[in-house]
Amino acid sequence: MSLVIFNASRVIEDLRELDRRTGDVNGAQRLCWGTKWREARAYLTELLAEIGIEPELDEAGNLWARLEGESKPGLALGSHLDSVPDGGWLDGALGVMAALGVLRAWTGAAEPPPRDLVLVDWADEEGARFGRSLFGSSAFAGTLEPAEVRDLRDSDGRAIADVLKENGVDLDRAPRAAAQQDGIGGYLELHIEQGPLLERERISVAAVSGCTGIERKRFTFRGQASHAGTTPMDQRRDAGLAAAATALAAERIPAAEGGVATAGALTLRPGIPTAVPGEAVLTVDLRNPDAAALARMLEVARVAARAAATQRGCELSEEPIWRIDPIGFDEELVDLALDVTHDAAGRGEAMTSGALHDAAEVARVLPAAMLFCPSKAGISHAKEEDTAEPDLKIGIETLMALVGKVLSARD
Ligand SMILES: [Zn+2]
Repeated sequence: MSLVIFNASRVIEDLRELDRRTGDVNGAQRLCWGTKWREARAYLTELLAEIGIEPELDEAGNLWARLEGESKPGLALGSHLDSVPDGGWLDGALGVMAALGVLRAWTGAAEPPPRDLVLVDWADEEGARFGRSLFGSSAFAGTLEPAEVRDLRDSDGRAIADVLKENGVDLDRAPRAAAQQDGIGGYLELHIEQGPLLERERISVAAVSGCTGIERKRFTFRGQASHAGTTPMDQRRDAGLAAAATALAAERIPAAEGGVATAGALTLRPGIPTAVPGEAVLTVDLRNPDAAALARMLEVARVAARAAATQRGCELSEEPIWRIDPIGFDEELVDLALDVTHDAAGRGEAMTSGALHDAAEVARVLPAAMLFCPSKAGISHAKEEDTAEPDLKIGIETLMALVGKVLSARD
């Protein structure tokens, strides 16, 4: 392979400029399908023009930029430019700008890359506006059902189809983005960890073996609302305490099964200081990289909810909010990722992602793998999100090294 000079510092400069253009004192403001998100894409398009590449959009609004190589199918590299409101500067943007850095390095080389290199910026990874995460990558993977999202509205009451149309995307045609699979043979994504593990281990980069599975349920407890002053303690049907007991039981589940459990939302009715709660709605989010363990976690949570309801004379109902099976990345790519992280004095073994990423959707249809950089104090989705510059540089350079390995392994 010809000499390819990669400039990780330039990638960090691009990230800082993106942050200047699309962030404010409260953090990144690249909410998908909005003005700042479009500005972010305009900036990416400017940077691509510098290296003579014109991007294209697919039917789901994903942005693709292809550097022709000596053979096909292409190797895709990317992540997402969209952010949550008041988000961090690196979540998603790191993977897109690092991918651009790889394309830039290869355009400066004497020979074309052995295979096409394809940058992808997935549309609406965060789902921060309509609650549907991984919009563009699921359309690519063939798992987006327009009928399932059609009724979604943003906080201003605007329908998803109308907002998409303003961005040139027809919701009914979005699944046609799956046609993009044709030109692509694999996918790599660099991302920040968004958790505290790598910082605690003082490690700059790690290979990721897959994304955790998730079970998210809503438990509704119905007891009897009654007067706080006149209802004796032994005659209450307190739905709030049944929900609280379930939340505490959920907290204990990971001790036996691994994974994590979160009771993240609780609504009490009537929700006033002077009434015993007659109704309580509790959400439980269970995550585990092992499918069997995840199923057992859900069963334990259900048993606990039933026991708590019975103990307090409440009725219980359960609704699914969302679920996804654990997704393992491609073993061959993960092994190559381990090779390059080893060379960079990174983590000795691959880790599982507790957050979801576009790579999880892509992995359904293509060999995919990820690399993680540490997050300071484990913080993400906040303006404090950051990664020490030396770690950032190592992460970006490791992606470049991984691309080199993949290109030569499959030459
Ligand atoms: Zn992300």
